[in-house]
Amino acid sequence: MIRIVFFICFLIPTGIAEAQEKRVSFPDAGGYKVLVCDPHIHTVFSDGLVWPTLRVEEGIREGLDVVVITDHIEYQPHKEDIPNPNRNQGYELAKTFAKDHPILVIKGSEITRSMPPGHFNTLFLQDANTLQKDDPFEVLREASRQGAFIFWNHPSWPGKAEDGSVHLFDMHQQLLKEGLIHGIEVINGKNYYEGAVALALKYDLAMMGSSDVHGLTEWDYQISKGGHRPSTLILAKQKTEVSVKEALMERRTIAWYNSLLAGPEKYVSLLIQSIIKIRSAKYQGSEFMGEASVLSIVLENESDVEFILENVSHYSFQQSLETVVLPPHTSKTLFVKTLKKLKDVEIPFLVKNAVIGVNQHPTWVLKAAIN
Ligand SMILES: [Zn+2]
Ligand SMILES: [Zn+2]
Repeated sequence: MIRIVFFICFLIPTGIAEAQEKRVSFPDAGGYKVLVCDPHIHTVFSDGLVWPTLRVEEGIREGLDVVVITDHIEYQPHKEDIPNPNRNQGYELAKTFAKDHPILVIKGSEITRSMPPGHFNTLFLQDANTLQKDDPFEVLREASRQGAFIFWNHPSWPGKAEDGSVHLFDMHQQLLKEGLIHGIEVINGKNYYEGAVALALKYDLAMMGSSDVHGLTEWDYQISKGGHRPSTLILAKQKTEVSVKEALMERRTIAWYNSLLAGPEKYVSLLIQSIIKIRSAKYQGSEFMGEASVLSIVLENESDVEFILENVSHYSFQQSLETVVLPPHTSKTLFVKTLKKLKDVEIPFLVKNAVIGVNQHPTWVLKAAIN
């Protein structure tokens, strides 16, 4: 009898999505869905170490909404074992595998040239095979003809800048003039390029974050211990390929890794407002102070981002310093010394973990009616 029960257990299939809880999650922001996307991933169809279906499986397990497999067009180190004559093959395998799962797989490729111009990802391609041309201008023009969204990868590598600065060569100026660059990586793997933030704002480019993973995401980011991969948060009207493309073309993106958020002020502010919630604000009496003037405010962080909030108001706090840390998916009570009883309160904070320009942080104002 026991043997039969075991046998039956082995026969019950377990879906990937059902077997794992969603790991990363963000609430909607300003009417947009906040989609978590990794737009830069490698497989054995270039210099990665895994099969494309495993990339989709990792994405589902980590709670990603969108993945883009971007194997190098030109660099094919596994060619002897995997000849890869059809450069769309990796995408097709991944797309078929993803069919019954809530994850979008978008067709992409990485154009791989020495600097300048360096490496570029092309997304929403129709046919990756047509990108096998000598002249990088011709390759990017062809991608553009196919309606691709094009972004500049790890812009200070390959090159001499190890300090996060980004050098714009004449070739890049020309590509920008032709409208062939729509985004730029400000986060690639564990690297942050502040020079790319400045360029994104100057030339109206989408700020992108990606893993550029070649091995397992678990190896690089310890997902099983609560880590996550660097990603792009896309503010899209719907969770569809059309909406994702529209959002990228309209630059509605925020690059994200751990506590770092980098994006345009408008969208970063929308995101912060949707994430940090005020659960209550009331005065609490105490044995010693009677109807005291210490206001207790409960804040909740509804996201996977750790927030670092620096109080820039004239109020001070009773039980904490001026800088308040709100870990992911937690709530925290602030005890604000208002000195007199108020009916409502406004406390501005600098959000130190978010950047809206080089060394520039957005302000979030805690506004509460007191009950
Ligand atoms: Zn690259
Ligand atoms: Zn890459």
